[in-house]
Amino acid sequence: MKNEFDIIEKYFNKQKKLAKHHDIIKSIGDDCAVLKPKSGKFLVLSTDTLIEGVHFPRQTCAKDIAIKSLTVNLSDLAAMGAKPAWFTLAITLTDNINERWIEDFSQQLHKMAADYQLVLIGGDTTKGQILSITIQIHGYVDEHIMLRKNAQIGDIILLSGPIGAAALGLELALNKNTPRLDNLSKKDIQSALDALNKPLPEIEKGLQIAPYCQCAIDISDGLLADLGHILKQSHCGASINLADVPLASCLTPIAYEKSLVMALTGGDDYKLCLTLSKQAWDKFSDEIPQEQQYKFYPIGEIREEKGISFLDNNQQSINKIGHLKLDQLIQGYNHFAN
Ligand code: ADP
Ligand code: MG
Repeated sequence: MKNEFDIIEKYFNKQKKLAKHHDIIKSIGDDCAVLKPKSGKFLVLSTDTLIEGVHFPRQTCAKDIAIKSLTVNLSDLAAMGAKPAWFTLAITLTDNINERWIEDFSQQLHKMAADYQLVLIGGDTTKGQILSITIQIHGYVDEHIMLRKNAQIGDIILLSGPIGAAALGLELALNKNTPRLDNLSKKDIQSALDALNKPLPEIEKGLQIAPYCQCAIDISDGLLADLGHILKQSHCGASINLADVPLASCLTPIAYEKSLVMALTGGDDYKLCLTLSKQAWDKFSDEIPQEQQYKFYPIGEIREEKGISFLDNNQQSINKIGHLKLDQLIQGYNHFAN
């Protein structure tokens, strides 16, 4: 294989035409990238590492690894209502990786970066025992910032899309009997696996709702776990109307109890969970022309009483659905959170 400098030049230093990016003074090729952030904006930064065997199975293809590496980072920007700007890539390659792999990985990375107007401005390329990819991402926000600590009692809790598909994808990847046991169609199987392997971030939705919201998180560890982070930092509780939780369509053939567990506790969906006041929700509906509005799903409310309670269609508190004890789901997430 070529040396480190040839790899950088051939596969990563692709974005030569940066004329329209006035905020990039120097990109790949010097000791540091040099940036001149737009005035009047705040910069937001985040970094995430993906390690083979931990964050994706060893056999995952190069393109899917590229998608996931960027999505986990872009999703953090989405949860801040940020517009993507730049990223750096620190990659540790192993001996069994060939040039074809690097070509596939870098091609997909550049394609997706272009889709989100994100520029690769630097990084590091090393060799090691385990494939590892660390991306640091940078974005712009206006003065209005969505923080986990900002949920207010009485706020509506919204989801940016149906959840649970990636959890089904994971079960399919781990348990070959699932399709037969649950009568899943080829289409259901494909969309669940795609949700797991090719997740996409909710950047556009985050940008649209951010001016109306004060609090958000992206769902990487499961709705209950991630909503739990908001509740902890905001010192409040929540009620969830179970019938309003949007379930991914590939879960339709699956028993309701089982799909609910996947939707409430399964990770890797990268949808957004947001909170906003009732007035702000009305304002959003009034101000954004209907045909331009993304669909957001109200699923519950922020409450003073700590913890998460579940409500049925009559707004009555319930703690069981069939054999499923809802308290145990909550205890499950608490266990992981501590
Ligand atoms: P240094 O020795 O100063 O750390 P490197 O030789 O590691 O510099 O990198 C040379 C240039 O290539 C730097 O601008 C660095 O940011 C960039 N670079 C290295 N690896 C990558 C990568 N995987 N993707 C993008 N840019 C990279
Ligand atoms: Mg270096």
